[in-house]
Amino acid sequence: MAQSIADRRDQEFVLHEMLNAADLASHERFEEFNKKTMDMVLSEARNLAVKELLPANKEGDETGCSLENGKVTIPPSFHRAYKLFCEGEWVAMCDDPQFGGQGMPRVLSMAAGELFTGANCAFLMYPGLTHGAGKLVEEFGTDEQKRIYLKNLYTGKWAGTMCLTEPEAGSDVGNLTTTAKRNEDGTFSITGSKIFISGGDQDLTENIIHPVLARIEGAPAGTKGISLFLVPKYRINADGSIGEPNDVICTGLEEKMGIHGNATASLAFGSKGNCTGELLGPENKGMKAMFVMMNEARLGVGLQGFGFASASYINAVNYARQRIQGVDLTRIFDKNAAPVAIINHPDVKRQLLHMKAQVDGMRALMYYTALCFDKVLTAEDDAHKDTYQGLIELLIPVVKGYITDRAFEVCTQGVQVFGGYGFIQEYPQEQLLRDCKITSIYEGTNGIQAMDLLGRKLGLKKGKPFMDLLTQMNATIAQAKEMKELKNMAVKLEQAVNKLGEVAMHMGMTAMSEKVLDAFAVAHPFLDITGDVVMAWLELWRAVVAQPKIETAKKKDAAFYQGQVKTAQYFISWVLPATLGKMEALQGNIPAIMEMPDAGFAG
Ligand SMILES: Cc1cc2nc3c(=O)[nH]c(=O)nc-3n(C[C@H](O)[C@H](O)[C@H](O)COP(=O)(O)OP(=O)(O)OC[C@H]3O[C@@H](n4cnc5c(N)ncnc54)[C@H](O)[C@@H]3O)c2cc1C
Repeated sequence: MAQSIADRRDQEFVLHEMLNAADLASHERFEEFNKKTMDMVLSEARNLAVKELLPANKEGDETGCSLENGKVTIPPSFHRAYKLFCEGEWVAMCDDPQFGGQGMPRVLSMAAGELFTGANCAFLMYPGLTHGAGKLVEEFGTDEQKRIYLKNLYTGKWAGTMCLTEPEAGSDVGNLTTTAKRNEDGTFSITGSKIFISGGDQDLTENIIHPVLARIEGAPAGTKGISLFLVPKYRINADGSIGEPNDVICTGLEEKMGIHGNATASLAFGSKGNCTGELLGPENKGMKAMFVMMNEARLGVGLQGFGFASASYINAVNYARQRIQGVDLTRIFDKNAAPVAIINHPDVKRQLLHMKAQVDGMRALMYYTALCFDKVLTAEDDAHKDTYQGLIELLIPVVKGYITDRAFEVCTQGVQVFGGYGFIQEYPQEQLLRDCKITSIYEGTNGIQAMDLLGRKLGLKKGKPFMDLLTQMNATIAQAKEMKELKNMAVKLEQAVNKLGEVAMHMGMTAMSEKVLDAFAVAHPFLDITGDVVMAWLELWRAVVAQPKIETAKKKDAAFYQGQVKTAQYFISWVLPATLGKMEALQGNIPAIMEMPDAGFAG
């Protein structure tokens, strides 16, 4: 079975018909990116994803990475893919062209990123983290640091990582023990160990630049005393050439459940007392720098989850159209009935529609959030800029937490649609499921995302971003109410939006009361119901765009537009009632969770 990655027609629908992304070209910053250019960029991205990244995905999974005699080897097929990826200037899609970026709108990069991650996420993590390291240099580096590092990172000549985690410092980064000792020449000697570092070592690039969180000797305990350092694998000579090894040793690679093609390394910095780093940004402001990068990094992990789900769904649709098994239910007693493709069986159709509803909603949410980044850059005044920045802050934990949770469910269903073959390695579905799981864990577990939504984002700017989101939802509801075919759905969504407002108020108040633990015990369910209502809104928005086009569209397009309306109907009539029930339950606080004695869990 030919493997696929993402539904091209739906990508175009969200970009051009729903979000009118090409309108960004009216702003001088994005004037080159009209619809034609956007379509061209996407075709190029699809070409690279299908022809180069996808074929390397299975090999990457099977070969994995190895560490022998201190040297890390990654899957051979990744080398060619990386060369082509860098030549196509895909590492820094949205960044400044003077440093090797393409300067494209983020919404467009999101569509390209969907194709790349769906094709081969383990591979994409190498250039992805490289870009993240470059962004840190761009945001916090001195002119000299930018001169030395930036172009080399944005063009992929050197790779980058992100070194936060230590054995006793995972979710609680403030607990880290890596130290930095000031040298006379202004550099720092770095000593400590980091674990779980993605792309921490590899044989892909001539140098690896590690942004490392460490504590300068004498700095305060906790997050307030953490600084950020640039630590290259090989020192860099004054003329920019590669110098001596910098005492960064890969001490081990993890054996993992998925993303086998990405080397997850344990790194020892300064075990021979000879590792030098330079401060990036101000002293003791390392966590602040990480917070600035967090929105982008979490958007990136949401994209990974979505990419897996999108690929799993499209594979499931294609398989269900081809796999012949069993007869039509209405002809079950007819001995002459021919077997049919499994897409005709009601239960399979339901599964596919559930997957489609989730994936469509994710795509709309990913692209919409990315568009908010572009709107911040092109806003006509500070008030608009503020609104879009607020929406980004609010939506990021939903993008990261809700999407990656749902993505894993979609990938599970993607295995189910294949029956026994879904469990077999010859088919892509089991790898997508395994690879997807990590997205709910790294870059802040989804439990941490839920706490971020409840503890920080809900009350941000006195709740303005949350109110702005509800206003956007109500605007779509008002449009849908004007269409007789959609009115019923609009009324149901309106009920859910109003209820979400009530529940948010209740949760916010509880979180500030003596029942704070009860509130945080259900932070994750609160994230879930928020995500459900956001998805229902985006499904209805899709229907509002599609409904008027059904009559006049040609046959295939008419089916596509009808599909939009049916998907919204499914989500609003099946998923949303359960959400309403959960919202009701949340208003009762579910005290059993915190009343449960620890010893009651297991004898
Ligand atoms: C494949 C892989 C790649 C990775 N890549 C990188 C990388 O490139 N760079 C890097 O720095 N790190 C990386 N990590 C580390 C990753 O970010 C951490 O594993 C993650 O942050 C969780 O930390 P932990 O594993 O210590 O779990 P813990 O923090 O011990 O969490 C265990 C459980 O407890 C929950 N929990 C913990 N604290 C709280 C709290 N205060 N409130 C509520 N719940 C809580 C968590 O949600 C989780 O369910 C990677 C990990 C893996 C597995």
